[in-house]
Amino acid sequence: SEEPIKTDVVIVGAGPVGLFAVFELGLVDLKCHVVDILPRAGGQCSELYPEKPIYDIPALPTVTGQELTDRLMEQIEPFGAEFHFNERVDQLERLDEGFRLTTDGGIVIECKVVVIAAGGGSFTPKRPPLPGIENYEGKSVFYSVKKIEDFRDKDVLIVGGGDSALDWSLNLQPVAKSLTLVHRRDQFRAAPDSVNKMFKLVENGDIKFELGQVTELHGDDGQLTGVTVKAPDGKTFEQEANAMLPFFGLTMKLGPVADWGLNLEENLIPVDTEKFETSEPRIFAIGDINTYAGKLKLILSGFHEAALMAQKAHEYVYPDKKLTFQYTTSSTSLQKKLGVK
Ligand code: FAD
Repeated sequence: SEEPIKTDVVIVGAGPVGLFAVFELGLVDLKCHVVDILPRAGGQCSELYPEKPIYDIPALPTVTGQELTDRLMEQIEPFGAEFHFNERVDQLERLDEGFRLTTDGGIVIECKVVVIAAGGGSFTPKRPPLPGIENYEGKSVFYSVKKIEDFRDKDVLIVGGGDSALDWSLNLQPVAKSLTLVHRRDQFRAAPDSVNKMFKLVENGDIKFELGQVTELHGDDGQLTGVTVKAPDGKTFEQEANAMLPFFGLTMKLGPVADWGLNLEENLIPVDTEKFETSEPRIFAIGDINTYAGKLKLILSGFHEAALMAQKAHEYVYPDKKLTFQYTTSSTSLQKKLGVK
């Protein structure tokens, strides 16, 4: 098996708070890997309200969810954190002085400190209400695309009318043997440009578009052979497919964090307000996932929590080095880390 990645800190969750943690940890010389089940950074801000303005980020009178994410990415750039998107941290094992984390995609990272910035939980795809779908999941029914190559020469069926359904129809069409998009309406909740591109490919006969709902799956041992589609007029027909990607949106579930042996209070992780450490030394929880007396689920609270957490994390990684308090405005050593010229 592959050698595990080794780093100082693993941050679980690339929401705004996980991103700012990279900054605070970077200032105290800690290297981070950041893992998120989503395909991009920003957590709730970019997934739930990318275009809505936020009005209570200090010194930014108005900033959209996506702009805030982009600015945080720019601010943490000097620290070279490594990102693992489309990966959910599933397992946490204790080592002598740290942890070994394993993702659902098989990435293994060993670290000295874990920062849980898991927000409202891991974004989890909504499962379509199709009898027996569990038997196909991970074999021929997938809720995300890890590798485009996995779909080469397949008869791919994509279900849904949002950006994911449209984007993946466009991206998989060139490699798939055939690509069929099924959506229950002829209205899409996706970028108009993608919808236009999709209809162009339909005109050319490169994509098949069917109006209707998938009502049944057919196949054996988890291998899909086709589905039944119910058209708006109530008539049903069979559609061949050996891979299906339903994109029915996401919900947030606490997920695997619940199995890591930490104290929980109603799906939140209790922490102290000095270091934001959990019931387990070296494991911190910051942002929406934590709870303490007076907690406010605001982005600015998470930023503060990240700063205090980093002080204690430094002590675990460098027990013999003392941290001196410094301002970024006046410290040449901090400015050097930030690449200030
Ligand atoms: P999140 O943004 O929830 O990010 C957590 C990330 O962790 C997610 O991407 C998730 O996929 C990932 N994750 C979780 N578990 C795992 C795992 N096991 N493996 C891999 N990844 C995992 N706040 C304000 O301060 N001001 C506002 O005006 C404001 N407006 C809002 C409007 C709306 C509509 C909503 C929904 C929220 C609003 N909020 C606002 C709240 C704000 O978005 C949250 O406080 C903030 O997103 C919390 O950041 P976070 O980094 O803690 O978590």
